[in-house]
Amino acid sequence: MIHDSILDCIGRTPVVRLSRLFPTGDVEVLAKLEFLNPGGSIKDRPAKHIIEQGLRSGVITSRTKLVESTSGNFGIALAMVSRIYNINFTAVIDPNISPANLAILRNLGAGIDMVTTQDSAGGYLNSRISRVAEIVAGDPDAFWINQYANELNQAAHYLQTAEEIIDDLEGAPDVLVVAVSTGGTIVGTARRMRREYPDLIVVGVDSVGSVIFGGPPGPRRLPGIGASRRPELIDMGLIDRVVHVTEPDCIAACHDLLTREGILAGASSGAVIAATYRLLPLLPARARVVTLLPDRGERYLDLVFPAIGYS
Ligand code: PMP
Repeated sequence: MIHDSILDCIGRTPVVRLSRLFPTGDVEVLAKLEFLNPGGSIKDRPAKHIIEQGLRSGVITSRTKLVESTSGNFGIALAMVSRIYNINFTAVIDPNISPANLAILRNLGAGIDMVTTQDSAGGYLNSRISRVAEIVAGDPDAFWINQYANELNQAAHYLQTAEEIIDDLEGAPDVLVVAVSTGGTIVGTARRMRREYPDLIVVGVDSVGSVIFGGPPGPRRLPGIGASRRPELIDMGLIDRVVHVTEPDCIAACHDLLTREGILAGASSGAVIAATYRLLPLLPARARVVTLLPDRGERYLDLVFPAIGYS
């Protein structure tokens, strides 16, 4: 099959049974390999959906300058989609960005706007959002994607990710375990899957130090999971249980995925596996658990896999 562009290679990711980590007979854990998306992560889906819907509705045109506060997967995905549609895209980033991600963004042709003023809490989120507001206020062609509030973020998962999961599973799952940052993945997949499987238990996985589900703010080093404010997209009516995971637990679970299943995945994939370990004693015998592995491990070799890293 010949595709017209790399964007046609987004989605239709495979599902793998993690039977070496979770011996069948106990529970069945099925993982959707979102890291196989061409930009390397689950964020390819909302980037493509938001830009294509914007072009279709006329909200985005060839003159539009897209802006987003992002230094990770979503920035790379937006830069990739913007290349194909020849749209101007600027990523508002901060000094914590990894050298690899900065290089990828630059080479994909994204504009880079680095904020350097720290918030009172020590992070850069407020500075980045103020900078985005400044850019948008000063340029009528600028358009803020706003992944934390944009309904099209969750719609990408409602329409595609969840639909694919339903197609792939033979029979109903009991539990859906999802790593949360903007909430796009959990809200979109849970909303669609609950229609199909009304008894589905939906578990959100957050990192210790993130404030999405309450709890005290604290330092967080692992990218992708968690947030320093509650995203507008989060719908607590869809989430039955929240599991907070520590960074050492995420890293240990990433190592388990690699050494037992041969899967080199990022920190939030470790997070959902660590959360699943914690859920095991609470699950009925032979429960079917579905989860998503959001990104690859290669970009975190120093942070998550120092034993095989470059440093
Ligand atoms: N894992 C990784 C690696 C991510 O980049 C993200 C998005 N920041 C998530 C999980 C969480 O996805 P969402 O924003 O849809 O909640």
